[in-house]
Amino acid sequence: MGSKDSSFPQLGSRVGVDWPPMAQQQQKIQVDGEDVIVIRSAKRRRTVTADLSGGELRLRVPMRLSRRDIETHARAFRRRLATRASRAGRSDDALLVRARELAAQYLGDSAEPLKVSWSDRQLQRWGSTTSTTGEIRLSSRLRAMPGWVVDSVLIHELAHLIESGHGPRFQELVARYPRTHEADAFLAGVTWAAQHSKHSEYSSGAGEDP
Ligand SMILES: [Zn+2]
Repeated sequence: MGSKDSSFPQLGSRVGVDWPPMAQQQQKIQVDGEDVIVIRSAKRRRTVTADLSGGELRLRVPMRLSRRDIETHARAFRRRLATRASRAGRSDDALLVRARELAAQYLGDSAEPLKVSWSDRQLQRWGSTTSTTGEIRLSSRLRAMPGWVVDSVLIHELAHLIESGHGPRFQELVARYPRTHEADAFLAGVTWAAQHSKHSEYSSGAGEDP
């Protein structure tokens, strides 16, 4: 590339000489079946940035980035944006809506949550349930975790609306959610890490309850 930094920032002075006259090119491609707007810029050397424009992912990339690299970036940004969005969407109300969906899908009509809320006090447990009031509290520590982990804790607590103990009937209920074991392992790892980190602020319970 023949670009040299000019001390006089004239028009086009920072554009590589082999890319005249367009400093930007825009195209729409598909990644995993979803539209991605790619804006190639001659000014960019390495950095890739992304934002959502009307629900579509928009990537700003260096002019000559390969299609394959673009796809890699698109997937990574989509994951990051989805995580951020779902975190923002995890209000108490959203949690109740999700709990009702899960109850309907996996537990039939028998589990009926009336209130679901995030709690900063659940340091020893991932969640707790008061079956008499239909109230479920989830530890705020779950908020930053993947949705399927939160779902699995919700299923656990919802199952307690039907069955108070952790016996065979309870196990049958929670096993209806396909990622129960995976989520248990995930949470066990989180607990282990918390217990083994030097500056652990909390020690999780001995695993009685997610
Ligand atoms: Zn339990």
